[in-house]
Amino acid sequence: MELRKDPLTRSWILVGDLESGPAQPAECPYCPRPGEAGPPPIFSMPAGDPGSAHWGTRVFAHPDPLYRIEGDAQRAGVGMYDRMRTVGAHEIIIENPDHNRPLWVASDEEVERVMLTWARRIEDLKRDPRFRYICVFKNYGAEAGEEIAHTYSELTATTFIPRRLVYELRACSDYYQMKERCVFCDILRQEERQETRLIEQTPNFLALCPFAPRVPYEFWLLPRYHHASYEGDVLRSPLVREAAGLLRRSLARLVRLTEAFHLVLHTIPNTTARLTQDAKWVTLHDDYHWHFEVLPLVPKRVKSYSIKEVYFCPLSPERAAALLREAPSTAAPRDAQPDIR
Ligand SMILES: [Zn+2]
Ligand SMILES: [Zn+2]
Ligand SMILES: [Zn+2]
Repeated sequence: MELRKDPLTRSWILVGDLESGPAQPAECPYCPRPGEAGPPPIFSMPAGDPGSAHWGTRVFAHPDPLYRIEGDAQRAGVGMYDRMRTVGAHEIIIENPDHNRPLWVASDEEVERVMLTWARRIEDLKRDPRFRYICVFKNYGAEAGEEIAHTYSELTATTFIPRRLVYELRACSDYYQMKERCVFCDILRQEERQETRLIEQTPNFLALCPFAPRVPYEFWLLPRYHHASYEGDVLRSPLVREAAGLLRRSLARLVRLTEAFHLVLHTIPNTTARLTQDAKWVTLHDDYHWHFEVLPLVPKRVKSYSIKEVYFCPLSPERAAALLREAPSTAAPRDAQPDIR
């Protein structure tokens, strides 16, 4: 695999003839087994008191990574085109020792631990000047491309900034140039006033359906105060448990209505990275605002008319928010059933 730049959209695309990855082992390699020392984790966060022997989250290198840690990107031109090697990091975050305990079934404390694990890995990987962006995401459900049976999320560190982020960063910077205000803070104030697209608000966080959603039930979760950096905020904030609770309840509502989703965390790029030519991002800390985006995969019975050039969303965010508000914010009993390994 290699990275190629589309000269028209300026996005980097992973290209290659993919061979099928390693076969799934019969036994879950991420479930704790007494007396057995599996592969060493890159990072681990204990459950309960610091120094506790029980682990809460563990981070491993992805068994079949999209990006590899060794070497340099070796950006090169091929005639008018640009290409580079797939240098980066690809990690999996095992969210819980329990095989089948997704975030909306777990306790707020467990969700908080996952959120802190994401932040610690982002902060650590940003020390590597080769990496311009660290992307935390979660694919839930076979249709969303879930690869591992154990409850998990993923992270990639890349030598480029992903396309959607580039668009957002440009829009935020442009909006700030015009109004000297953060566009997300302005969105928050308007949504708080209008209320029709709110799913739930807590004193410091908000879950809402965006005004122009890409898919039915798309929702965002963001702090009601301004902060550009997720990791910079949550690693120093006393409010992580509050955000964790809102994330848990919002996902619990969502899985009552859809069967699969992508969750992605948007935070600022690595500002200390080499190759940072984006001098115009001088207002980054003032113009960007961290948030989660959750994009459900629509069940087949809901007709989707999405075409490549324009998003088509057959459910309004006002109606989606109403349905999400009505949905119970606790896990359905079937989710809590013990999984047969
Ligand atoms: Zn497992
Ligand atoms: Zn803001
Ligand atoms: Zn975003």
